[in-house]
Amino acid sequence: MISKMLRVLVCGSGGFIGGHLTQKLKKEGYWIRGVDLKRNEFDNDLSDEFREGDLRDKKFCFEVTKGIDYIFQLAADMGGAGYLFSGDYDAQVMSNSCSINLNILEACMTNKVKRIFFSSSACVYPEFNQGETENPVCSEDSVYPAQPDSEYGWEKLFSERLYLAYSKNTDLEIRIGRFHNIFGPMGTWEGGKEKAPAAICRKVSNARNGDDIEIWGDGKQTRSFLFIDECVEAVIQLMNSDFDQPINIGSEELISINDFALMVISIADKDLQIKHIDGPLGVRGRNSDNRLIKSVLSWSPSMSLVDGVTKTYNWINSQVHL
Ligand code: NAD
Repeated sequence: MISKMLRVLVCGSGGFIGGHLTQKLKKEGYWIRGVDLKRNEFDNDLSDEFREGDLRDKKFCFEVTKGIDYIFQLAADMGGAGYLFSGDYDAQVMSNSCSINLNILEACMTNKVKRIFFSSSACVYPEFNQGETENPVCSEDSVYPAQPDSEYGWEKLFSERLYLAYSKNTDLEIRIGRFHNIFGPMGTWEGGKEKAPAAICRKVSNARNGDDIEIWGDGKQTRSFLFIDECVEAVIQLMNSDFDQPINIGSEELISINDFALMVISIADKDLQIKHIDGPLGVRGRNSDNRLIKSVLSWSPSMSLVDGVTKTYNWINSQVHL
């Protein structure tokens, strides 16, 4: 286990995964410093000390890493398909997230941080292996030859290599998780940066019996979704392990977006139809391949998708009708 004496920094503690992770680490008794551009809007950042600031600023990175042993680096310019796959924000997504990672790693050197977790993404996997709805290939070793389908994915792949290079050339220990669609309560559910599960829950919550809900594309595209509590558990286990190569953190329960929408409609107990419209889509099929994480950490998700979606829908429904 990570020693409770260690001082922990969570970068991006104002965000969805960072907020949940901070809450869990705090409950386990760690001293936490949280940093973010903004405070967590759902008040779940329980850090002992919160520093509001911009990790693209080198000086700020040096300040917040002082006295820190372990870092969970979750800060990134992040969003759902509408934000990341439209192409309209590519330059800022790449440059913002790269700057954060470059600065944090240099600050780790100066302040002699021992270990850092980096949140990578399933978006690193090549587009040519994910052209069908069934049997997409997302094993860790399939990442090269590289052809991510978005600049967001290219930035994550570059940053993985950056962390691997620091680990090779310095004493810094690294851990890298490739997240596959994490969802749950207290995540962004409106405003343009929300991801598909939250957007669908919001649309269903807003709809009245007889309405249509809009789904981007033909809805046959497939994905898997991991509930937030399971993600946090896997991240902590990975941080506690000796494994220093990129590893998938996801669910293997593949579902089409149409079936996901039908699941939410059934949970809400509403009479709604799906209407397909044009929109940014990403790859045709994507699923986590958990063989490596099962063998390295003996970890696999324990919650069914429907249970996680029920918790998430109930929370988003309560936000919509506040
Ligand atoms: P999020 O947007 O909720 O959290 C990211 C946080 O980083 C935000 O609170 C944001 O304000 C902060 N941030 C951004 N730029 C910053 C800066 N310059 N200085 C300080 N803080 C800054 O996203 P999330 O869903 O919690 O994702 C966390 C990490 O996991 C990200 O690196 C993301 O790319 C990765 N990831 C998430 C998913 C997912 O499904 N949620 C999937 C793959 C990878």
